[in-house]
Amino acid sequence: MKIVKYFIGLCLTVLFICNGSINVRASEPVTDINDFKWYEYSDGTVTITDYIGTDETIVIPSEIEGKKVTSIDFHNLWNSHFVDVTLPNTIQAIGDRAFVNCESLKNINLPNGITDIGKYAFNGCIALKNINLPNSLKNISQYAFGRCSSLTSITIPDSVTSIGNGVFVGCSSLTSITIPNSVTSIGDGAFNTTLDDTGFTIHANPNSYARTYAEQNGIKFKCLDTHSWDEGSVISNATATNDGTKIYTCTACKIKKTEKIPKLGLPKKGKLIAETKSKSAYKVTKSSSKNGTVELTKVDKSKSSITVPSTITVDGIDYKVTSVSKNASKNNKKLKKITIGKNVKTIGANAFYGCKNLKTIVVQSTQIKTIGKNTFKGIYSKAKIKVPKNRFKSYKKLFNKKGLKKTIKIIK
Ligand SMILES: [Zn+2]
Repeated sequence: MKIVKYFIGLCLTVLFICNGSINVRASEPVTDINDFKWYEYSDGTVTITDYIGTDETIVIPSEIEGKKVTSIDFHNLWNSHFVDVTLPNTIQAIGDRAFVNCESLKNINLPNGITDIGKYAFNGCIALKNINLPNSLKNISQYAFGRCSSLTSITIPDSVTSIGNGVFVGCSSLTSITIPNSVTSIGDGAFNTTLDDTGFTIHANPNSYARTYAEQNGIKFKCLDTHSWDEGSVISNATATNDGTKIYTCTACKIKKTEKIPKLGLPKKGKLIAETKSKSAYKVTKSSSKNGTVELTKVDKSKSSITVPSTITVDGIDYKVTSVSKNASKNNKKLKKITIGKNVKTIGANAFYGCKNLKTIVVQSTQIKTIGKNTFKGIYSKAKIKVPKNRFKSYKKLFNKKGLKKTIKIIK
């Protein structure tokens, strides 16, 4: 009896030790492996095929009987009741219909290492709100996330090149999907839900296939990292003293951005300004934003009638034209009529020298102080110079001093 007792005691001790070691393993958050059914492939790896326990939270082991668990193939689990599933990082594939119609499933991790999500894998997982797709993923097979009606947003990793038919069909809460440049095909009906009601938007880069797909299918599109700006349009031109603005529109998502056009600064004294519209040129004689002045240096020699304007505008700033430079219209045979603007004070030497067809000179300015040498020498012999009434006497004196021909008349 003593020996028997001793033997029993030994057995209990062994059991206790075994239990102890089992307890240590059980304290790891791994579901009892007896609650799983599995299938062993010829290569010695294991796929889980069923869960027969009742836990709401299950943790799939990475090994069963020393064999690596590499896939999940829960096709017997329709309408299963578990809520949280933790997968080990040995998993490489989620099989066809693995979690189909697991209507209670709310949380599942997809570890890095998974390359394939099978057909209908999560189809009908109506409680699934979020799922992170790993960067190792290559294939998302057809209808994989179909009818996941709680899913609100999803990001496709840039390891994926195609999205199969109907992958997100019936995902009625899906408002945002981010698609990388790597995706070059999207299957039929991938998103054919009531898109307009949900505000469903594809987020991708403007030069991506996803953008083309969105445009072709009338799906809202937002740029992800970069925009594709158009040439922009000027809303207000920069002036010498004020910045201008230009607005650019993204050709992909239509977002707009405003850009400042820096102010041009005032031209320096002596700067030549070509005025393309009137084909004339001016020189800045005083640089100022309020009371700048310029001198007319060149006229359009193809015109028979020329007006020296009272002001010109350069970069949005008005400048008074206070002088006509020497030789400005010298030997201009085309010129028949010249009008001198009201701010002119000085007409330089030879300005109209040799303009033999110049018959009419209209002086609007009452401020002329200086007329240069030979300014009107050689103009039409019976030309008429019309001057302001209140300057008739003084201008007659001033002009005649410059040796006008007697046949040229000065009139009021
Ligand atoms: Zn954009």
